[in-house]
Amino acid sequence: MTVSKPHLVVVGSVAIDWIITPRAERPESVGGSATFFAMAASYLSQVRLVGVVGRDFPDYAVADLKAAGVDTSGLEIVQDGLTFRWKGQYHENMNDRTTLETHLNVFEKFQPRLPDEFRGSEFLFLANIQPRLQSDVFAQMQRPRLVGLDTMNLWISIANDDLKAVLKNVDVLTLNDEEARQLSGEHNIVKAARAVRALGPRNVVIKRGEYGALLFDADGEVFSAPALPLEEVVDPTGAGDSFAGGFMGYLARPGVETSGASLRTAMIYGSVMASFCVEGFSYDRLKGLDAATIQKRFETFASLTNFARASLT
Ligand code: AMP
Repeated sequence: MTVSKPHLVVVGSVAIDWIITPRAERPESVGGSATFFAMAASYLSQVRLVGVVGRDFPDYAVADLKAAGVDTSGLEIVQDGLTFRWKGQYHENMNDRTTLETHLNVFEKFQPRLPDEFRGSEFLFLANIQPRLQSDVFAQMQRPRLVGLDTMNLWISIANDDLKAVLKNVDVLTLNDEEARQLSGEHNIVKAARAVRALGPRNVVIKRGEYGALLFDADGEVFSAPALPLEEVVDPTGAGDSFAGGFMGYLARPGVETSGASLRTAMIYGSVMASFCVEGFSYDRLKGLDAATIQKRFETFASLTNFARASLT
C-alpha cells in the first residue's frame, strides 16, 4: 500500500520588494511571505501555494517555485493589475527596519479560490496577509490537522478584529516580539505569550531576529532556539517566513508528530532555513539548497547549544 504524503497549503503575499540595507540596495527583489515560506518548506514537504500576482511579476520567479517542487496552480496571475509591492529599509543593526511603502495592488480585490485538490490538505499556513484573506482560505479547507499563522504590526493596528477572529482557528501562531507586545498590550514577553495564547492559538512562537526564537507550547513549556551567529547578514527580508517554512515543512513530513518534542525539532529546522535566507537577497540563497547542506547546518545548530550536564550537589 502506498501512503500519500501530506500536503502543506500556504496563502500569503507574493511580492516585488525594494530592499535597502546599509550596504546595498535591490529595487526589484522578488519577495512576499508566501514566496519565502514556500521556498523554505519545499525542501521538507509538499507545498501548495495560494496567492495572486500582476502582469509585472517575473516569469523566472514562478519557474523557480515550480523547480523547487511547489504546486503553483493556486497562484492567480491578474493581467490588468500590478503585483503587491513593498519597500523597506534596514537600519545599521540589520534587526530594525522601516517600511517606506506598501502597495496592495492586486491584493485589494483578491478573492482566494482554492483548487479543489488543495482543500483536503492536512497542513495549512496562513502567512502574512490581510486577516480577512486568511479567514477566506481557512473557510475553504476541509479539516486540516494543523493550522499555522503569521501576521505583522500593520494588521494588528488596522484589522485587529479580523485578526482576532482568525486566531481562534490557529494551532501555531508565529510573530515577532514587538508584535506580541502590541497584540497583547503586555511588555514582558512571557506575559505577552500567555495573553496571546488566550486569544486562541495553542502554541505561540516568538521570533526575536538575531536572538533566535521562543516556543510557548500547549503544555505551558518554553523552548528556546538560537539564531546562528553570522558574520554577514546580507538581507534579513523573509527570515520570519523562511523560519515558518522550515517549521511547518518539518511538521508536515510523513510520520512526524505535531506536538511535544517534534515542535522543538521544527523550531530548529525553522532556524536553519532562516539562517540561509538572510545570507542573500530575495530567495537567492534558499534556491538550489540540498538535503545534505540543510542537514549540515542542522548539526551546526545542535552543536551550538550542546553542553555537558553538570551538578553542584
Ligand atoms: P519578513 O521579513 O519575514 O517580515 O517578511 C518580509 C516580506 O513580507 C516581504 O517580502 C514583503 O513583501 C512582505 N510584506 C511586507 N508587508 C506586507 C504586508 N502588509 N502584507 C503582506 N506581506 C507583506
